[in-house]
Amino acid sequence: MPSSPNTVPSAVVLDLTERRVAYFSMEIALSKSLPTYSGGLGVLAGDTLRSAADTGAPILAVSLAHRRGYFEQHLDAQGQQTESDVVWFPEKTLPAASDILSISLQGRELKFRAWRFDVVGVTGHIIPVFLLDSDIEGNTPYDRTLTDHLYGGDNYYRLCQEGLLGLGGIKLLQSLGVKPEVHHMNEGHAALLTIGLLEERLAGAPLRNATDDDAKAIQQQCVFTTHTPVPAGHDQFGLDQMAAVLGHERASTIERFGALHNGLMNMTYLALRFSRYVNGVAMQHGKVSQHMFPEYKVHSITNGVHAATWLSAPMKDLFDREIPEWRHDNQYFRSVYGIDPWKIVEAHTAAKLRLFQTIKARTGVELDPKLLTIGFARRVATYKRASLLFKDPARLEAIAESLGGLQILYAGKAHPADNAGKALIRDVFSAAARINSSKLKIVYLENYDWELGEQLTNGVDVWLNTPLRPYEASGTSGMKAALNGVPSLSVLDGWWIEGCAEGITGWAIEDADDESQEAGNLYAKLEKAVVPAWQSPKVWARIRQHSIAVNGTFFNTHRMLGQYVSNAYFPLSSSVASTDQEIPDEEKIPAVVA
Ligand SMILES: *Cc1c(COP(=O)(O)O)cnc(C)c1O
Repeated sequence: MPSSPNTVPSAVVLDLTERRVAYFSMEIALSKSLPTYSGGLGVLAGDTLRSAADTGAPILAVSLAHRRGYFEQHLDAQGQQTESDVVWFPEKTLPAASDILSISLQGRELKFRAWRFDVVGVTGHIIPVFLLDSDIEGNTPYDRTLTDHLYGGDNYYRLCQEGLLGLGGIKLLQSLGVKPEVHHMNEGHAALLTIGLLEERLAGAPLRNATDDDAKAIQQQCVFTTHTPVPAGHDQFGLDQMAAVLGHERASTIERFGALHNGLMNMTYLALRFSRYVNGVAMQHGKVSQHMFPEYKVHSITNGVHAATWLSAPMKDLFDREIPEWRHDNQYFRSVYGIDPWKIVEAHTAAKLRLFQTIKARTGVELDPKLLTIGFARRVATYKRASLLFKDPARLEAIAESLGGLQILYAGKAHPADNAGKALIRDVFSAAARINSSKLKIVYLENYDWELGEQLTNGVDVWLNTPLRPYEASGTSGMKAALNGVPSLSVLDGWWIEGCAEGITGWAIEDADDESQEAGNLYAKLEKAVVPAWQSPKVWARIRQHSIAVNGTFFNTHRMLGQYVSNAYFPLSSSVASTDQEIPDEEKIPAVVA
C-alpha cells in the first residue's frame, strides 16, 4: 500500500517462479489514492487482480507508473471541463522491484525500472503489480516523460508507451526470472509483448530468422481480451511511425506475419494474430467482435466486479453477519434470498445517506433521502448519450411532479481531446438549468473516480444507462449497483442483455428507430414501471433483494476469473480452443457503424 515519504516498505519476498499467468494492462485501478487508471478498463483490471488475490491465483501483473495520472476534472458553472495533472511519486510510495533495465525503442536505448504494488487478498495472498517507469537519468528528456500521462500525448507518444509496456514488460519478466505459461493482454495496448516474446525465443538472433513455428509457439502463450466494438477504440499506427518507434526489424516482422490491417499497424490485429484464445467481455460483445474479426475465433467471458471493493460498508456488515462465506466465494450471494428484505433496505438507506452527505459537503446541495434518486455516471463518450433523458424536459418534469420529487445525479469525465464529449457535459448542464420544476433536482458531480463511483452505485435507487447499441461492450457500473441492491434502467446492451429480468432486477429501455422515440420509451418505462414499483415499498424491497441474489451472484470477478482460468488460461481439454465457433445470425446483431 502507498505510504508517506521515507517509509517506503520493503517488498515481501515472493517466489515469482510460481506465477503462471502474467496479466498486462495499460491501466489498473490499484488504490483510491493512485491515479493509475482512467475508467472501466482499469477498474476491471484492478478488480480482476483483487479477485486473483482473494482466490490465491498464480498471477502477476504489469502496467505503467503514470506519474501524472489520467487527470483531475474541473467543471465551471456552464459545465466547461478543464483538466489538471495528478502527480505522484512512485519512488516515495512503492518499493523498487528491478534494476535499471533497457530496451531499444526509437532507434536508441530506453532505460526503465519497475516499482511493485501488492494487491493483498483476504487470506494474505499477494498479486504483485509491476509499474514500469522511464523517468531515469540517462534517458532523453522526452523519454523521461513516457510514463507520465495515461492516454495523453499524441499517437507517437502512445506507440512509445505501448512499446515499453509490451517489450519492456517481457524484459522485466526475464530479469525477474519468471517464465509464465500465459500472457494475458487486457486490451490491445499490450500487444507488443508478442514481439518481445518472439525476441526472447530467438535469443539474440535477428527477428528475420523467426519461422511460422516460432510464431505458433508465441501464440500458445498468449490470451487476448478485446474491450470495445467502437472502431476508434482500436489503436492503429502508420507504417512510418511503426518503423520509427520499433525499428525496421520489428516492423518488417509484424508485416511478414500478417499482423497489419488495412495497411496500418493495428494493436488489435497484432494481438489477434498471436493469441491462442480471444474473447469479448459480454456474450453479445463476443458475437459483435466475431463479426468484426471473422478470420479469428472470438469467445465471450462476461465481465464482473470485485464485490468487497464495490459493496457499501453497511451492506458488507449485513452480509458478514448473514452469509460470511461471501468474502471468498461470491456464489453465496444467492442466499440473500434468506435475508429479510427490510434489512437490505436499511443497509441501502445508510449508503444513500452517506452519499447525500458527500454531495452536501462537495456542492452544498441538500437532497432528500425519501425521494427516488437516479444515478448516471460514466466516461462521457458520444455513444453513451448522457443527455437522452432530457429529450423531452416537460415529460421528465411531469414524472417528477407525479412522484412528489425526483433527484438525478450525474458524473463523468470526457477525454481531454474529446470535444464532442465535453460538449455533452455542457448539454447536461444547460438542460438542468432550463428545468423549471421545483420537484426535479439535477446535480452534476465533478471528477468521477473510484470514490465517487463507489458512493453513487452504493447509494442511488436506480442506475440509468442509455448507450447506443451495440457500442457498450459490457459496462460494469450497473454490476456495482446490482450488488448493492440497486436495479438498472438500461438499453439492452452489453451486460444488461444478460442481467435484465424485467421488473425483477430492473427494466429494459426498448429499442427504437430514432433517438426521440427511444427517449419516449425511456419515459414510458419510468411512468409505467419504475414509478409504480417505487410507490410500493414492498415491491421495491424485493427488487433490491433480486438484484443481489440474481445478479450479484454472477456479475462478479470471482466468477469471471474462474472462467478465465478454466476456459482461457488452463483449459482442461483442448476442445475449448478448437471447437468450430458458430457464427451468430447476422440479423440479430445490430450493425457496427464504421
Ligand atoms: C466502474 C467504473 C467505470 C466503468 O463503468 P461503466 O459502466 O463501464 O461506464 C468507469 N469509471 C469508474 C470511476 C468506475 O468506478
